Amino acid sequence: MSAYNWIQVRGHCPSCGGFADLVAQTHMASDYDGDEGGRFHDRSYQLGERMNWWGRGDLRYGRWKEGNLVRSIKVEDDEDYECCYSSCRVCQASLYLVICFKDCCPVKCLEIGKEENWPSQYYK
Ligand SMILES: [Zn+2]
Repeated sequence: MSAYNWIQVRGHCPSCGGFADLVAQTHMASDYDGDEGGRFHDRSYQLGERMNWWGRGDLRYGRWKEGNLVRSIKVEDDEDYECCYSSCRVCQASLYLVICFKDCCPVKCLEIGKEENWPSQYYK
């Protein structure tokens, strides 16, 4: 079982068309270890909010990246992408959210879709 966190995104649900609170499960910056503030697991973040993680000086810092791009598409050194499982709280549809992360921070939601249309460039 792997550790994970949650990203909260306001967006249009492609299933019901409503503007809804979508919650995506992410493996970025997740670990059952932690610091004095607690484990890096099962925490909830907004876009733009830096995730709790070891500092840059720590050897474990680089482990924050847990993206699931199939091919090693060129990304910046401190950037990664993840296609995350999500669902709509209004209609309960199963969705995916593609989120861009930089420096341990979810910066942008690039795409919202139905889970059945999971983009092929990301592992499930
Ligand atoms: Zn919906």
